[in-house]
Amino acid sequence: MTTMPHFLLSAETSFSAAHRLPGVDRCDRIHGHDWRVRLTVRVDAAALGANGMAVDFREVERTARAAVEDFEHRDLNQLDAFAGTAPTAEQVARIVSDRAHAQLARSTPAARVEEVEVWETPTYRVVYRPS
Ligand SMILES: [Zn+2]
Repeated sequence: MTTMPHFLLSAETSFSAAHRLPGVDRCDRIHGHDWRVRLTVRVDAAALGANGMAVDFREVERTARAAVEDFEHRDLNQLDAFAGTAPTAEQVARIVSDRAHAQLARSTPAARVEEVEVWETPTYRVVYRPS
């Protein structure tokens, strides 16, 4: 599967939100981050469109943006998306991946989520690969 020629296309978005991580030293106090999210999608080279594009970057960007829209300026611990779990960077990445997967299945079936990167700070990053 990964040996097939393919293109990887990425777009980034960001949001500002607070969270607290119970039981984690220092992080158990509510605090905020400017989160950065990069969505990378994969398109088989054989599926290149007649226009020479695998997928419009704007579609990748829209998908990434839509996946984090309800996180903007919120306390992540209060959101249903994080019910029963701590709103860690890992969980943010997994939720963004799940949402992007669902969106792309409707809008751009040739594009699959390859990975989601989430920066909680400029130097702390998580990568989630759904497969
Ligand atoms: Zn934090």
